[in-house]
Amino acid sequence: MLQIIDGKAISAQIKDEVKKQVEKCKADGRSVCLAVVQVGDDPASSIYVRNKKKACEYTGIESVSCQLPGDAAQEELLQLVDRLNRDPEVNGILVQFPLPPQIDEDAVIRAISPEKDVDGFHPENVGKLCVGEEGLISCTPAGVMEMLKRSGISVEGKECVVVGRSNHVGKPMGLLLLQENGTVTFAHSRTKDLREITKKADILVAAMGKPRFITSEYVKEGAVVIDIGIHRSPDNKLCGDVDFEDVKDKAAAITPVPGGVGLMTVAMLMSNCVKAAMKQEV
Ligand code: NAP
Repeated sequence: MLQIIDGKAISAQIKDEVKKQVEKCKADGRSVCLAVVQVGDDPASSIYVRNKKKACEYTGIESVSCQLPGDAAQEELLQLVDRLNRDPEVNGILVQFPLPPQIDEDAVIRAISPEKDVDGFHPENVGKLCVGEEGLISCTPAGVMEMLKRSGISVEGKECVVVGRSNHVGKPMGLLLLQENGTVTFAHSRTKDLREITKKADILVAAMGKPRFITSEYVKEGAVVIDIGIHRSPDNKLCGDVDFEDVKDKAAAITPVPGGVGLMTVAMLMSNCVKAAMKQEV
């Protein structure tokens, strides 16, 4: 029978666990604080920022909003990040992407102190993930690992195919699956005969940014299919990189969109904030 991996339930579970950890921190006289930086007023970014602040409210994490105008210079943002890096009351810094074209996102990622890098994008945290050291891990792939674990899906010895190799999603996803002893293949836009590769996957992760691209023809019978993609159609409906209706009869387990990986990203951000705060206390 098809298992629908319920991102809503699992993310709620994680947020409740974080809430307890934050209560414990408060009982010990410490608070947890996330600074959320937005540049400009892109509507999609504003929704993401609002959801992150709502999750902070729920878990008891304090959130500080820092808003810069859309035409802010890179230097202005870097100075703000520097101030937040040095503020002992701030445990985590999140700069909402995408940034306006005059700002180099990579420079911003590198400017955030690795200890406060709750997005897990800083090369130091990526490096730690690569060598198996504890650090802050990119929220979306970390969320996928929690979904697998909490759904009783073991990665060990499985053929895992990640479609997508971006620094923030695909690459850390593959590294995490490797860490759990999966046999990992990365596929990307230059991959020859993608279908032949994805059809070998016991665990198939779609992170390619192409709406409903992965149909049943790309999926092995009985595979676990994880859909990281998120797209909004002109009629305001959400869908993923996987054609859910077409794939659901072939897969053994699948994440829906909405109600899947997207909700996990915010939950893992909250989890990273507490992790960062606890580490900073030591
Ligand atoms: P990205 O930076 O655009 O990367 C897309 C990756 O997919 C690239 O590695 C690209 O290959 C590969 N790709 C594109 N077309 C392909 C094709 N036809 N066949 C095989 N590979 C192909 O995107 P991203 O930031 O990783 O995000 C991926 C998706 O996840 C997007 O839909 C995004 O909205 C979503 N996302 C969701 C969450 C969430 O919370 N659920 C969080 C982050 C991202 P090349 O490297 O060769 O160009």
